[in-house]
Amino acid sequence: MKIRIDGALDFHQSKSHIPHAFTLPVGTTRLDIRFDYAPMHTEGQPVQNDLSLTLFDPNGARGARHCNPDRNLSITANQATVGYLPGLEPGVWTVWIDAHRIMPAETIHYWLEIETTDQPINEVAHQWVKPVLKPRGPGWYRGDLHGHTRHSDADWDVPDFVRYGREFKLDFVTLTDHNTVSPLAQVDSLASDDLLTMGGTELTTYYGHALALGVREWQEWRVGASGLTMPQLAARAMQNGALFIIAHPHSIGDPYCTGCNWQYTEMWPGNARCVEIWNGPWDGDSGNEHALQTWYEWLNQGYRMVGTAGTDIHGPLIYDPAPGFNLVYAQERSEFEILKGIRQGHLYISSGPRLKFTAQSASGNSAMMGDHITGKEIRFTLVWEGCQPDDQLFIQVNGTLMEHLTTTTGGTRSWHLPAVQRSWCAVEIRSVDGRLRAISNPIFCGPGWA
Ligand SMILES: [Zn+2]
Ligand SMILES: [Zn+2]
Repeated sequence: MKIRIDGALDFHQSKSHIPHAFTLPVGTTRLDIRFDYAPMHTEGQPVQNDLSLTLFDPNGARGARHCNPDRNLSITANQATVGYLPGLEPGVWTVWIDAHRIMPAETIHYWLEIETTDQPINEVAHQWVKPVLKPRGPGWYRGDLHGHTRHSDADWDVPDFVRYGREFKLDFVTLTDHNTVSPLAQVDSLASDDLLTMGGTELTTYYGHALALGVREWQEWRVGASGLTMPQLAARAMQNGALFIIAHPHSIGDPYCTGCNWQYTEMWPGNARCVEIWNGPWDGDSGNEHALQTWYEWLNQGYRMVGTAGTDIHGPLIYDPAPGFNLVYAQERSEFEILKGIRQGHLYISSGPRLKFTAQSASGNSAMMGDHITGKEIRFTLVWEGCQPDDQLFIQVNGTLMEHLTTTTGGTRSWHLPAVQRSWCAVEIRSVDGRLRAISNPIFCGPGWA
């Protein structure tokens, strides 16, 4: 079987999804889809037009290959082009063109060639075996919650990504390719006692990105075309067990980074309870300082939001000399327990300094970051280590600066707050030039927290 489909899209159809259905015959041994479009570049525009393909078999999604310059794909019973899953289920398949970006005043001509064969193919399936790791028990675990490979738009393969985690001596890394789960069996197989590998997807919608962590099944991301709104997609991902994190909400947006800027006003924060406040380099295009302020505003509105970090690493070039990693308190160094620790807000973010931030009430209750503590008078205690001598410590109460001091390399500080009204307390450590070096999640006190 060989069919060719030609079509055109004008710029009004930017951010739309266009389906083309075809029937995969019984006995097919290989499916090839060749796809291209022109023009790639629109004259005078800073970035290229960007279309990619999401593929569905009769039973569900096979993945996507977001923003990858190689647009052709092949699938056999046991193998698939990166970004997609293997297997040939006869019946009606649908290939969707995802028009992530068509520059103004442009018309794109595209063509699809879909070809199948029933010639015998001698291939074996990859046997990805997930190892059982030695228990490590309760403790603080340091790791990354956001990264990509060639299965979407990055420059390296899954083993390279895992090697990066080992080079940084992380306890865990998390692979979150755009709109596909195709690398996750492999990344799971590469865990070992020194490095836990976790997984999920980055829901790369046209009006905002979000991480859905801890699930190995493809998650619907197509707002509108799926019949679902963004809050409904988020709720579905959470029902499926995912930890849902709004990613880089104030990132540079269209046209430079398509869909990267969070524009879902009904999720501000709506049903989201986690937000990435440190994405990539602190001073990069991700608008981290702005994201931090938005997080503080949401906390002031009474949302117990958790702030997280992710390098969003896309290849061997490390753009940040001191990336912000998550330090999560978990009952075990397992994906389930680390994600549970994050849900509880039991984490801080750091590029080096180590924090111990706790609270006690006069009646004997105690709390760590992310917890809500009750009692009339709350004593907060911060212990810090590993700072530069001139680092600056900022103690925030309800987003307002309560105290500012120079850290020296380590130290301790205690203060009291009357817990008569809804309050939260958090700490920042910044270098003398203002760059964030570490930030706690808040401790909550007083009435009115959900
Ligand atoms: Zn993103
Ligand atoms: Zn990303």
